[in-house]
Amino acid sequence: MSFETVIGLEIHAELDTKSKLFCSCPTEFGANPNENTCPICLGIPGTLPALNAKAVTLVVKAGLILNCEINKESHMDRKNYFYPDLPKAYQITQYYTPVCKGGYVDIEAAGVSRRIRLNRIHMEEDAGKLIHLEADGVSLIDYNRAGIPLIEIVTEPDLRSPEEAVAFLIALKSMLEYGEISDCRMEQGSLRCDANISLRKKGQNALNTRVELKNLNSFKELKKALEYEEKRQKKLYTLKEEDKIVQETRRWEAVKEETIPMRSKEDADDYRYFPDPDLGPIIINDTLIREIKKNLPEMPVIRKKRFRELYGLKNKDIDIIVGYKALSEYYEALVSCGAEPKVGAKWILGSILKLLNEKGLKAEQIPIPPEELGKLIEIIEEGKISITAGQEVFSEMFRTGKDAENIIKEKGLSQISNRLELERIINSVLSNNPQSLSDYAAGKKQAAVFLMGQIMKASKGRANPQLANEILDERLKKGLL
Ligand SMILES: [Zn+2]
Repeated sequence: MSFETVIGLEIHAELDTKSKLFCSCPTEFGANPNENTCPICLGIPGTLPALNAKAVTLVVKAGLILNCEINKESHMDRKNYFYPDLPKAYQITQYYTPVCKGGYVDIEAAGVSRRIRLNRIHMEEDAGKLIHLEADGVSLIDYNRAGIPLIEIVTEPDLRSPEEAVAFLIALKSMLEYGEISDCRMEQGSLRCDANISLRKKGQNALNTRVELKNLNSFKELKKALEYEEKRQKKLYTLKEEDKIVQETRRWEAVKEETIPMRSKEDADDYRYFPDPDLGPIIINDTLIREIKKNLPEMPVIRKKRFRELYGLKNKDIDIIVGYKALSEYYEALVSCGAEPKVGAKWILGSILKLLNEKGLKAEQIPIPPEELGKLIEIIEEGKISITAGQEVFSEMFRTGKDAENIIKEKGLSQISNRLELERIINSVLSNNPQSLSDYAAGKKQAAVFLMGQIMKASKGRANPQLANEILDERLKKGLL
């Protein structure tokens, strides 16, 4: 029997605000436990929340970027449940009227373009964080995260494979980054993904029981967890044991590479949602929408098209460069400093990405200003240093922040393009390698390659390769006469 996989995603993204959703506590990551708290985000009775206007602006912006309809009036609701990370015993969220309705994201997976519909985007506060110290048998609570503004983006169950789910998350992340809505640092939890997955017979319209997978916080985990769950459910259907697929929340165990049950999934009724009486309606007028629309940044899809037309780069390369906003901005700055577009792309895709990966740095942390890299590229193009020496200078620039000219001077890397000096080096190499000379004379052309290697070695990589090759060629021909 052939099955179809049905996947829907729920993505939480921390909004890029300086303060929390209902109080003025800072949102920065990495503070000491419970440092960023106050009576409001600690849920002390008698305090009142006041809504952060910047957060509302960001939700509207996200909605416009993701092609949603904006509700002119929306409300905050209380979602009631008890858990130690939720000091008020309710979460302030939006249930009845979210800020954004509908919307879509266009994706491409395995060469197929598809439009994935969104159901809604709503705004809510984050909960605190429990830290379980298993060795000591205690759990600690850090409320720094409590009250941090989030958006939850809910898709329709339109995704049909784990690959599509990953392509969707990549596209969405990039759009949120371009819109400066969230920094989307998955490793810090500012972008988190839950997935609902079920299978049905091909051609069947109704949806079968779905399973929710929680906290898939990297593209790799999302893909692996969905693939595992897809396989698990398929097996149960094939064995006619589909009654074992129950509506539940499962956790991905990265070490064991399997999903395990966490709890049976609650229904909306369990939360007793009701409008929060402490907060008034959120009114979004046309002026605000127009203002946000006017200042929307260029989106990745448009930028990709522009890069293709303007710089003539390959699609594969554009996908990588435009995939990171900071990287694409660095690239354009580099080109505007005079680097030839294809040469500039080669540096970004090669040396820069390699060192960023090695050092675990983000694209926005490239330690070399684009104008300095531009200068290095120019020095290489002018033949003042060899490409090999250029790589060495680049690593040193990356490591020390010094400029190219100083490093070249300090390391004595400038290329030898002086004919007399090169002739001196070549003469000495030839007199030290008489065997190669006679090999060449005997018709073994590869002896020339060996000699060229010796010349580069003797000059510590500084010989201008073209000129050295030319001189060597002359000498060898002379030797044959
Ligand atoms: Zn606070």
